[in-house]
Amino acid sequence: MLSLARASAATVDDAPVEPRMRLTDLPADRLTVALTLDACPGGFDERIATALVESRIPATIFATGIWLRGNPVGLAFLLAHHDLFAIENHGEWHIPPVLGHRRIYGIPVAGDLATVRSEVTEGAASITAATETPPRWYRAATGRYSPAAMAEIRQLGFGIAGYSLNADAGASLPARAVAGRIAAATNGEVILAHVNQPYRQSGLGVIAGIRELQRRGAGFFRFDQLAAADLADA
Ligand SMILES: [Zn+2]
Repeated sequence: MLSLARASAATVDDAPVEPRMRLTDLPADRLTVALTLDACPGGFDERIATALVESRIPATIFATGIWLRGNPVGLAFLLAHHDLFAIENHGEWHIPPVLGHRRIYGIPVAGDLATVRSEVTEGAASITAATETPPRWYRAATGRYSPAAMAEIRQLGFGIAGYSLNADAGASLPARAVAGRIAAATNGEVILAHVNQPYRQSGLGVIAGIRELQRRGAGFFRFDQLAAADLADA
């Protein structure tokens, strides 16, 4: 009876969740992490992308449709280095897949499942058009989901891309703090930072942090190399 009551409430205005996720079944002898960079609306942080190419560090870019259309130079850079960068789905318009009436970090949420569906499927179509590779993973704008929306997104065939280490708090943290958080990553960490804020200090911290991980011998996995079974709730 309790679960029925919760399922019923979930279709109206359930509390958003922030799914945590880590890599699993990893080699015991090597620090292994996944670096994920969100391209919300905004610009292209060429500092990070160039550093990743110089250091040969793979990353998964979660891009919105509006970012792809607004950053043709950035997109061309990512595609020119497709051996390093996978592009996955961050939604078409950066609308949080959350039901009901609320804002998260000031962003109005989808409100209903039909809007969630179009946000996810149109975002996937934009990526397929831009890259010729259909995305398999979706990460919510703001990282928050209504549980009913998560079920709907999985039904559409996408894995839910959570994370375990929020490295830059929406590119709002100073470089030193971001570097410290990333450098402290433990085995299996799914690291979240941002690649859409080229004028903030956070990006310099991303570069310093990942270079420290690399110095420690870390291996970097991309989401397109993972099966859903390789991820576990943290
Ligand atoms: Zn975002």
